Amino acid sequence: MLRRRHLLCCGAAAAAGLFSALTAGALAADASPWRNPCGHPTPPIPGVDPDWLARIWDGLDPTQLWDVHAHLIGTGDSGSGCWIAPSLSQWWHPMELARKHAILNGACVGGPDIAAADIDRAYVRRLTALADAFPTGARWLLFAFDEAVDDTGRRRPDWTTFHVPDAYARAVAAQRPDRFGWVASIHPHREDALQRLDRAIAGGALALKWLPSSMAIDLRDPRLRPFYDRLAAARLPLIVHCGEEHAVPGADRQDLGNPLLLREPLRHGVRVIAAHCASLGLAMDLDQPRPRPAQAFELFARLMDEPAWTGLLLGDVSAMFQFNRRPEVWRTVLRRQDWHERLLHGSDYPLPGVVPLVRLSQLVRAGVLDEGHLAPLEALRGHHPLMFDLALKRSVRWQGHALGAPVYATARHFAAGGIGAAGALAETRRTPG
Ligand SMILES: [Zn+2]
Repeated sequence: MLRRRHLLCCGAAAAAGLFSALTAGALAADASPWRNPCGHPTPPIPGVDPDWLARIWDGLDPTQLWDVHAHLIGTGDSGSGCWIAPSLSQWWHPMELARKHAILNGACVGGPDIAAADIDRAYVRRLTALADAFPTGARWLLFAFDEAVDDTGRRRPDWTTFHVPDAYARAVAAQRPDRFGWVASIHPHREDALQRLDRAIAGGALALKWLPSSMAIDLRDPRLRPFYDRLAAARLPLIVHCGEEHAVPGADRQDLGNPLLLREPLRHGVRVIAAHCASLGLAMDLDQPRPRPAQAFELFARLMDEPAWTGLLLGDVSAMFQFNRRPEVWRTVLRRQDWHERLLHGSDYPLPGVVPLVRLSQLVRAGVLDEGHLAPLEALRGHHPLMFDLALKRSVRWQGHALGAPVYATARHFAAGGIGAAGALAETRRTPG
């Protein structure tokens, strides 16, 4: 029996350690060091040397910088169709309530009067302000998030923690195509899944996102093959969350987040982006005669090193420097320069604004961050979490190795079928509603 109450995406946010931090922080006074102070994002930023900030961009082309992992979240208070499970607003679910407050605080939305706030619009306003403080050309891929659907194609609100309709992601992106693109999310067991996919492709979706453990999608299910064929033909990347998610103890579909299952869409010629490079938790090593638990990241690494997938398998580096990852993960992604052409910058917004998730002193102790970066990074985080996330990734080093410039030249991966970035934009504008 599947039980899932996955929380506002990506196990990162839901990681167990966050909860304790949040009970100390998110529910405490506004001055808590765990809270995002939500400063003004436009430079000059107090405590951040403009020359230090400018060095982030050395060797980078902002027009190639697409953040391939950014979430839209809303309550539907604008008529967006977004939805958040009621349990996240109920005081008798204090952990879920704390997480919701922490995530909304990360996005600088709401406050003590969250229920009365204009959450949908405020979320987009803040994200747009952050985007506009970036150089011209930088863009964000905004994720829709489909509901869970069971084996029979029935919608399961009781398995769904939040929902962002494709139409909403598309509409938000269409308001600012210079800054935003959109990523569809379609459960493949919906009766009209293929029609929805066709509509998404025609509507300029830049990728499709699944969270198998949460949405109850088994990548091996033969019923997914027409879906894979369509994705491969359209060269539409499939972004799949792999690795563990710690939403709720007792959720029992972690097995569906096993990175080794990615071989199925890969075999069908689908280009796959493994979210967070599967950097969290354990998964069964199904390649062994007697499968046993292994680090999910090691299984991802195995796939990256299988020559068959060189042109198909990619990984995004969002959330990878959060406190719940192992130093070995940080060192490996820095050291494996041969992977960098296939790693993609992503922020997992709004998580970079959720202060307890990234602990800079821990990165210093692990030997991947120079102490001299601590003060400007902390100052930057309080004003501009997206710039902070980029600056952090540009600052980390292991034995002289950094995340190379190709990691930040992500737009090229979405130039599907010969349509370049400009062409894809034109496509988005041209396609009728
Ligand atoms: Zn995410």
